[in-house]
Amino acid sequence: MKKVAIVTGASRGIGREIAKTLAKEKIQVVANYYKSEEAAIQLQKENNNIDIFKANVSKREEAKKLVEYTLKKYKKIDVLINNAGIAEFKEFTQITDDEWNKMITTNLNSVFMMSQEVLKNMLHNKNGCIINISSIWGLVGSSCEVHYSTAKAGINGMTKALAKELGPSNIRVNAIAPGIIDTDMNHDMKKEEIEIIKNETPLERIGKPEDIAKCVKWLVEDTFTTGQIISVNGGWIIT
Ligand code: NAP
Repeated sequence: MKKVAIVTGASRGIGREIAKTLAKEKIQVVANYYKSEEAAIQLQKENNNIDIFKANVSKREEAKKLVEYTLKKYKKIDVLINNAGIAEFKEFTQITDDEWNKMITTNLNSVFMMSQEVLKNMLHNKNGCIINISSIWGLVGSSCEVHYSTAKAGINGMTKALAKELGPSNIRVNAIAPGIIDTDMNHDMKKEEIEIIKNETPLERIGKPEDIAKCVKWLVEDTFTTGQIISVNGGWIIT
């Protein structure tokens, strides 16, 4: 029987590449999107094993519907990739309560809610793999991205604690902490800024969505890795 995976935020960037990579491995993917409907429809058209579902995963009711849809149609969930996220560059003293709450709700609470929702099924099956897409900034902090760094650090803490709680139920929980990856999220970075980062990086380039998708594929196949935060960043930041 085919494995079934949910990938949140799969309409663009890293999530889209993860969805394509898992689908090529003959995993049935439910690719979640929120605003980019056209891109999601295109993704489904171009790939076998990809179904799409619209949900704002920062809202409990919508996260629940995404999981219910998947279970009704595919009967089980083996893999959850918590990838959906937003970023914002802003001085700490300028961040409003609304901006803070949106960052935490979208990047951290979504991981809490999606994980809770899929776990009802994973615990029943005594089988599961949860992969959270964190960020290197969750490990080392980024100036002018305190709310983003805080949310990602929260994901790292959740990953470690949940891995301990769920190990005896044969459910693995890991996170990937990417460095700079070439997606829409970084499209307002200047060419010169990118060049500086390339020069600081031992592998002399920034990342591609494929670099993260390959790590996801490995973690899905693996059976003995849990509670880890894996930095995929070309050696730019070595903790
Ligand atoms: P991106 O190109 O901006 O794509 C973000 C994705 O998240 C989109 O598919 C978007 O869907 C989805 N999304 C946002 N809010 C959502 C919500 N409330 N509900 C459901 N989906 C939502 O970003 P990316 O670079 O691929 O980032 C993916 C993940 O990697 C994020 O968690 C990000 O923090 C992390 N990351 C990225 C980098 C990087 O350098 N790019 C580095 C470290 C970590 P719609 O367009 O359909 O709304």
